[in-house]
Amino acid sequence: MATLRWVLCPHCGTSLNKPGTPALARKSIGPTVLETCPHCLKQYSTGFSEWERKSKIERFFIRARTVLSSLAIGFFMNVVIFFASIPILSKLNLSNREYLVCLGFIFLTIFIISFFKHWKGLNEAIAESLERTKKKI
Ligand SMILES: [Zn+2]
Repeated sequence: MATLRWVLCPHCGTSLNKPGTPALARKSIGPTVLETCPHCLKQYSTGFSEWERKSKIERFFIRARTVLSSLAIGFFMNVVIFFASIPILSKLNLSNREYLVCLGFIFLTIFIISFFKHWKGLNEAIAESLERTKKKI
């Protein structure tokens, strides 16, 4: 799954659509790369920078975005699983209360799995970034 990053040239405002890295967590962490705008031929930064060079606010937003995207994906998966589990759970002859406990347990598990998967991905991206920064010194 390739995502598109929406980039505007800071000099002339031309939109420069570029395919980005697939994992949301990896977005914006990486070596700073300068590219040339095909319209005005001036150089612009792709917005990527190494973790070491990011400010506290940038780090906070990257972490917040990771949490939010994991919750959004967990929610989407829960909706799918909710509809898939109705015919299965209805066969088990559960009381309403047991049914809700089952669903609650499934929902919570998915949110937790989704969160840890994204959080791990972000921490790996940070570790790779720190490794790259260390090599340069
Ligand atoms: Zn330009």
